Amino acid sequence: MKTLVINAGSSSIKYKLFELPAERVLTTGLVERIGETSGRIVHTVFKGDDAHTVTRDGALKDHRAGLQQVAELLMDAEVGVIADAAEIDAVGHRVVHGGEQFSATTIITPAVKTAIERLAPFAPLHNPPNLQGITVAEEVFPNAVQVAVFDTAFHQTMPPHAYRYAIPNHLYDDHRIRVYGFHGTSHLYVSRQAAEMLGKPLAETNIITAHLGNGASMAAVAGGRSVDTSMGFSPLAGLMMGSRSGDLDPAVVYFLGTKLGKSFAEIDRMLNKESGLIGITGVNDLRDIEARCAAGDELAELALAMYSYRIRKYIGAYIAALGRVDALVFTAGVGENSDEVRRRACEGLENLGIKLDAARNIGRKKEAVAIHADDSLVKIFVIPTNEELEIARQTVEVVKSA
Ligand code: AMP
Repeated sequence: MKTLVINAGSSSIKYKLFELPAERVLTTGLVERIGETSGRIVHTVFKGDDAHTVTRDGALKDHRAGLQQVAELLMDAEVGVIADAAEIDAVGHRVVHGGEQFSATTIITPAVKTAIERLAPFAPLHNPPNLQGITVAEEVFPNAVQVAVFDTAFHQTMPPHAYRYAIPNHLYDDHRIRVYGFHGTSHLYVSRQAAEMLGKPLAETNIITAHLGNGASMAAVAGGRSVDTSMGFSPLAGLMMGSRSGDLDPAVVYFLGTKLGKSFAEIDRMLNKESGLIGITGVNDLRDIEARCAAGDELAELALAMYSYRIRKYIGAYIAALGRVDALVFTAGVGENSDEVRRRACEGLENLGIKLDAARNIGRKKEAVAIHADDSLVKIFVIPTNEELEIARQTVEVVKSA
C-alpha cells in the first residue's frame, strides 16, 4: 500500500510517502511559507540507495496550492514515483488534539472533521491547519482513505487520578479541563521498539519514555498503555523545553497579570516562546548551550543543569508511578544526540536501578542502542523516533481492519 503521511502546520506541510508493508520510504518533502510571496517545496525521492532532491520556489497561495504541487511532484517524470494520484491508497494525517473523543487512530468522516474543528480551542495553532490539510488531501487524493492519527490518543488510557487537575469539578465537567498529553505517536513508537529490544511483548513491559526535542515530554507506559505524561492540558506543561517554561506555579501567571500588568496574550507568548532554554540563555538550541557551557558560560551551565534536573525528577516520579521499570528510553533531537543531557539526567539514580555505562553513552546515536551498565536494573536505550512511520503503520492498520 502506498501511504502518504501529512503533517500540516499553519504555513507548512511535511510529507512522506511510504510503501507498506515493506516500510520503504519513496519520497519525503517539506512545503514551506504557504501564504507568503516566496513559497518553497523541497522534495527528495529515494530510488535504491540514491536520494535525489529538487527545490521548487514560487508563491503558494494556500495549502491547496501546496498539496497540488506535491501531487505534481509525486507524478513528475523526473522525480515522481507514481503515475496517477489514484495510486495513493491512504493518507495518514497527524492531528494534534483529539480531546476525549479519540483514543485511537480513526478513519476520517464528516463527523470526525467536525470533532477536530470543535476541538480547535484546545489546540488553536494546530487543529485548524491539520483540518485544512485533511480537506485539501480529500480533494487532491480523492481515491485515498483519509486517516487521522492524534497526538493525544495514546494518553487516553491514563487513569483519572493522573489526568484530573485538583480544581473545581465543573471545570472538568463543563469544559473538559484535564491532562491530555502530547507526542503520543512518538511515545508509542519508542515503547514498541524498546519492548522488542527487551525481547518481551509490549503488554508485559513497564517503560519510561523521554521525548526530548524542541518540545519535550515524558511518559510512564505500563503494558503499552500510557499511565502518566508530563505535558498537560497543553504542550506547555512538564519539562523545560527550547522556548517553553514547562511546569510553573500558576500563581506566577496571576502575578504577571496583576502586578506586572501583562495581558493574557503577552503571558502566553512569554511562557511559550520566550521561556525554557531561551529564557535562561537567549538561545533555544541545546548544541549552542553545550558549546557555551564548554566555554564556561554560567547561564548556559544553569540552563543545562535545570533542563537535566527536570528530566531526572520526572524519571523519579515515573519510577514511583510504575513501581517496576524495565527500560528508560531517550529519543528525539536532544535525547538521541546529547550524551551530556543523558548523563546528567541519569546521574545519582543508581540506587533506583538506573546506571549508565559512560562509554556506551558517548556520542550521537543514529540507531537504537543500549547505553546502560551491565549491572543496571533498568535498561537504558536511545531509540531514534520515527513518528511518520508510526503514523503510516497505524494508518494501514485501520484501513485494513475497516
Ligand atoms: P527535534 O524537535 O526532535 O527535531 O529536536 C530539535 C532539538 O534537538 C534542537 O533544538 C537541539 O536542541 C537538539 N539537538 C539536535 N542535535 C543535537 C546535538 N548534536 N546535540 C545536542 N542537541 C541537539
